[in-house]
Amino acid sequence: MSLIALLPGDGIGPEVVTQARRVLEALSLDLVFEEAPVGGAAYLQEGHPLPAATLALAKRADAVLFGAVGDPRFDAVERAFRPEQAILGLRRELGLFANLRPAKLFPGLEDASALKPEVAGAIDMVIVRELNGDVYFGEKGRRTTLEGLREGYDLMSYDEREVERIARVGFETARVRKKRLCSVDKANVLETSQLWRDVVNSVATEYPDVHLTHMYVDNAAMQLVRNPGQFDVIVTGNLFGDILSDQASMCAGSIGMLPSAALDTGKKGLYEPIHGSAPDIAGQGKANPCATILSAAMMLRYSLDDETSAERIERAVEGALTAGVRTPDLGGTATTAEMADAILARLA
Ligand code: ATP
Ligand code: MG
Repeated sequence: MSLIALLPGDGIGPEVVTQARRVLEALSLDLVFEEAPVGGAAYLQEGHPLPAATLALAKRADAVLFGAVGDPRFDAVERAFRPEQAILGLRRELGLFANLRPAKLFPGLEDASALKPEVAGAIDMVIVRELNGDVYFGEKGRRTTLEGLREGYDLMSYDEREVERIARVGFETARVRKKRLCSVDKANVLETSQLWRDVVNSVATEYPDVHLTHMYVDNAAMQLVRNPGQFDVIVTGNLFGDILSDQASMCAGSIGMLPSAALDTGKKGLYEPIHGSAPDIAGQGKANPCATILSAAMMLRYSLDDETSAERIERAVEGALTAGVRTPDLGGTATTAEMADAILARLA
């Protein structure tokens, strides 16, 4: 039996998490669900975006399925109490250091991709982004130069343990896909990247079945648009991963289609759509639930070792799209529940 923490959150979060739960329940797996408030919803109920009971549930659970947080009504609230703090707190408290973002173009969505139609169909990759290091967490500050100019600085650093553990996630991810791993860095100018490359090369000796290449980040950004089919898995640092994963998501079509996972060193993970709470369409039944349903598939794959059920969900999503069922973001008229109905009907 596995305990799944459902944290629906704000805006369209509850609408899409409800549909993902229906899909998970339809698989008749040995899952128990427990729900807790997070984000603005939790701030209203409990006075904090990440209440102690919600955090305790997330820690106790085998995996967390997260909707979205963010609510314009709390924009003026003190920073520590803003809805967005909840996801940062969860990542930190759960030790989630690896962010996996698959970018795959589903059939018939070529027109939604930012890529040229002739190459768009080829995009089917996972970006593995390190989440806990790099310029985001190095020493940072302001100072005055000798000439009296204001100066800002952010230290980029990685130690070998940090690189090794994310490299391992990269190799493990590639191992169960097409066995091609591309490590992205800027080793021609950055010391951090040279260490990164050394460590990735030494971890590679444990994965002789995975074909490893290295690419500079500027070239990777270009190649992603020119020839996305060359990539299977990319492993990269926090900053480069931030930029490349947003770029890749535009290549793969609607923001309503893309799932993600944040993993720790073990099997625990937090799974969420890459989109936000979309207050502009909340409560109207317009939200595309596919990103959250595909996040649930990732949860089965990475936290519960159930590849078979993960693929069942992914095939059902593909089947529903191929049949022409589309929410408004994909140019259709299906409601959130109708989109999920079409997926449920194809789960068999
Ligand atoms: P955040 O800062 O939380 O990432 P954001 O400001 O980037 O949020 P989103 O909430 O992701 O914004 O919404 C961006 C746009 O995409 C909005 O117009 C929203 O309606 C649309 N959108 C987001 N998610 C979905 C979805 N699942 N289905 C349909 N449209 C969506
Ligand atoms: Mg956003």
